[in-house]
Amino acid sequence: MKRVYLFGGLGFILAFFIVFIARGIFLDDQTVHYHANFALYVNEKQETFDSSLFYEEVQSCSSENENDPKTRTHMHNNENHVVHVHDSAVTWGHFFANLGFGLSNNSITTDEGTFVDGQNGKKLTFFLNGQPVQSIANTVINSEDTLLVDYGAGKDIQSKFDKIPRDAHEHNTKPDPASCSGSDDLSTKDKFLKVIKFWE
Ligand SMILES: [Zn+2]
Ligand SMILES: [Zn+2]
Repeated sequence: MKRVYLFGGLGFILAFFIVFIARGIFLDDQTVHYHANFALYVNEKQETFDSSLFYEEVQSCSSENENDPKTRTHMHNNENHVVHVHDSAVTWGHFFANLGFGLSNNSITTDEGTFVDGQNGKKLTFFLNGQPVQSIANTVINSEDTLLVDYGAGKDIQSKFDKIPRDAHEHNTKPDPASCSGSDDLSTKDKFLKVIKFWE
């Protein structure tokens, strides 16, 4: 009879550890983190996003404030051409909204105003991965995408596009500890707490 209790106890402990390990692996798999590159020009002037307000602290990559939409996509470290994506189904519209900008298929709102396609003979152009596209706001950001948004005469689209630094791939492959780096976003302690929270 004693032996039954012993095996029962061991079984329980074993089951606990299996679930514990499985959850650890599962949580790792769930972590989304990839990068894209972009540039925005308004009236032939590139938006340089100089204010630190456009950049998120590394803490905002973590899942501690999961309900804050800003954690899903943002920029870091004053790199004004790198989009960090931390969730699935994140669109370019979400990204611009998190910068405090507005993006629709026929207008862009920056901190300097709203610019409408066709107004004063000016054009809003979206150029994604070397191809013009009609709409972008509801397009999901894909890893290593390169997007140019241009409002103006519609000139030099290709050369503006070519000038965008292509370092999304580098950000994807290299851990960037100064920025946000994948599953390392959660500290070991956070991860442990998440793993043992069965009720979530
Ligand atoms: Zn981040
Ligand atoms: Zn990142």
